[in-house]
Amino acid sequence: MGRSEAQHRIEELKSILWENSRKYYVDNAPVMSDYEYDRLMHELETLEAEFPEYATEDSPTRRVGSDLDSPAGPGAELNARSDFAKVPHRYPMLSLGNTYNIAEIEEFAARAEKTLDTKFTWCCELKYDGTAICLTYRNGRLLRALTRGDGVVGDDVTENVRQISNIPQVLSGSGFPEEFEIRGEILMPYDSFNRLNAEREETGEPPFANPRNAASGSLKLMDPAEVGRRGLICTLYHIPDGSADFPTHDEALRAAASWGLPVSECREVCEGIEGIEAFISRWETERKSLPFATDGIVIKINEMAFQRTLGYTAKSPRWAVAYKYKAEEALTPILSIDYQVGRTGAVTPVANLEPVQLSGTVVKRATLNNADWMEQLDLREHDYVYVEKGGEIIPKITRVELSRRTPGALRPAFPTVCPDCGAPLFRPEGEARWFCSNPDGCPTQIKGRLVHFLSRKAMNVIAGDATIEQMYALDLVRTPADFYELTIPRLLMLDGWKEKSAQRFAESLRKSLEVPFERVLYAIGIRYVGEQTARDLARHFGSMDALSAASKEDLLAVPEVGSVIAESVFAFFRDPVNQTLIERLKSAGLQMSLEAPVAAGSDALAGKTIVISGNFSISRDEMKELIERNGGKNSGSVSGKTAFLLAGSKPGPEKIRKAGELGIPVIGEEEFFAMLPGRMDPVPAPAPEDGQLSLF
Ligand code: NAD
Repeated sequence: MGRSEAQHRIEELKSILWENSRKYYVDNAPVMSDYEYDRLMHELETLEAEFPEYATEDSPTRRVGSDLDSPAGPGAELNARSDFAKVPHRYPMLSLGNTYNIAEIEEFAARAEKTLDTKFTWCCELKYDGTAICLTYRNGRLLRALTRGDGVVGDDVTENVRQISNIPQVLSGSGFPEEFEIRGEILMPYDSFNRLNAEREETGEPPFANPRNAASGSLKLMDPAEVGRRGLICTLYHIPDGSADFPTHDEALRAAASWGLPVSECREVCEGIEGIEAFISRWETERKSLPFATDGIVIKINEMAFQRTLGYTAKSPRWAVAYKYKAEEALTPILSIDYQVGRTGAVTPVANLEPVQLSGTVVKRATLNNADWMEQLDLREHDYVYVEKGGEIIPKITRVELSRRTPGALRPAFPTVCPDCGAPLFRPEGEARWFCSNPDGCPTQIKGRLVHFLSRKAMNVIAGDATIEQMYALDLVRTPADFYELTIPRLLMLDGWKEKSAQRFAESLRKSLEVPFERVLYAIGIRYVGEQTARDLARHFGSMDALSAASKEDLLAVPEVGSVIAESVFAFFRDPVNQTLIERLKSAGLQMSLEAPVAAGSDALAGKTIVISGNFSISRDEMKELIERNGGKNSGSVSGKTAFLLAGSKPGPEKIRKAGELGIPVIGEEEFFAMLPGRMDPVPAPAPEDGQLSLF
């Protein structure tokens, strides 16, 4: 390559990498695969080595990708905070050199052996795929938690980190330094991730691309309590040299574990490249059964003195390297693309694939996310594409195999009208998705709203999707208010329904009149108003009337509400269709205010960390809420800090075993209720008065 061509390519690569780095670290919405990003980074490194005159200080090869700016992209959290205090790191927080190639690991090991020219050991660890965190403990208490930021300065996220259940506020054991730092990763396990994405889709927010982005977005939320509910965990893997004094890295981690810190046991001290390679091949399969994402292994020189000898580059240590596993992928052609409309009107392209085996399952469909992603892939009809599957539910299309493209193949045309009702699509500013412009007439959206309204976390009325589909087809319901005007004879029009099933449905609807206001607010399906936001709004405004009269400024005064939510709520109540809906629901007798006595909280469980497992007479969410309302803290896993394991029917055997091992008491539901002042009813509103119910 000639000089001017090289200069041009270097500039081009720098700009592509910076742009994608921002999408990844700041917006938490990457549009490029890690493999592709790393490939471009290596190309830039090679060119800069060959043409050093064009290598500048600001090159992404020399700087750690920064998460400091405020998120703005399509994957941004609606409730993200952008004004965290910026605190300088005592020791820079760097990146790691990485490779997907075992030969390069061999070269790295050979170089270290040659430079050190003496016997030493390696510590091999898993490479956790989350977001980096630096914790400082002073006198055994958690003092501060900083993100990596730009490596020099980090965001102070201490209050949010205090909500992560396996991070101790206070250390146990002895011998810890008066003040020290320990670093690690905040992770979102797959089950929390899948749950969060399902909730986001419910409320119309774009799902996170992967657990790493979800963890990093969650850490920057405004409301620490919401961070607590996200199910994050932490694993720690590094005490900076100088922060504590240990001869080896492994001994430092053992000590940290003895102080009660969550240090992963998935590591091994070994000798020579053989030891490293054995670790790599063992974890290549074993990591797939872990409940959280890992993307490789990290190989570190174990002796601190030798780490010091090798030192650092501007971006990463010379004594460590990451070997990244290439995500398992399969190559298959696209047969066709469906454009699916969701409850909120968002149109998602989904590819139908020639069925292909991947990680033990047959993949037939994969998401193409949105129009931007299709453009980024530069997709053509019937292209051969690579499909990847992490621990996530939906497989993803990551790239196109250009060598198998049919010459002259056309770009798939993203629809301009709704595939369901034919209304024009529109794309709101800052959104990556297209939306149907006909929310009140589009059958999919109407049915989606009805399903959402009756769902367990909303009005909790027993009715399957097929029943709602039939009710819609028979023109029995169009809006949630129609449910409350159904009669038994009309219900008997449904296929296979007898007096008994109709009565059961009617009874379930009648019970829904007791559902508290905050859940009614969630049920009416205001875009971006999930369960938590509904709770925040209900507590702040107290009634539907007050909320519907609120100005945008009033809405913004709610601490957890940002401009996107405020805009959406304000617009909802200005729409005459919604005004009629609210009026009709009001006349049907639904709870429209918090005036009904909400069960008072207590501090009966203050300071207690409780793990729940199994099924109870109330939902698990209600049980968790009950614990929080009485001052307790929920945790997902049993540890030395667990006060007791609250076990319902069919509790997890692993949790029971762990509790037994640690001597943690296991108590049942009755015993638990007895600990609370009075019997706390999680659905506390009084039964409707006689005559209030006009049903049937
Ligand atoms: P990295 O994630 O490749 O490796 C460094 C990080 O690994 C550390 O900061 C630490 O947080 C983490 N880590 C996990 N386990 C560890 C352990 N046991 N010991 C030490 N560290 C451990 O590097 P990075 O600088 O955070 O990110 C760069 C990578 O991010 C790129 O290689 C790329 O894969 C990805 N990226 C992707 C895009 C995209 O558009 N897809 C954009 C930017 C970055």
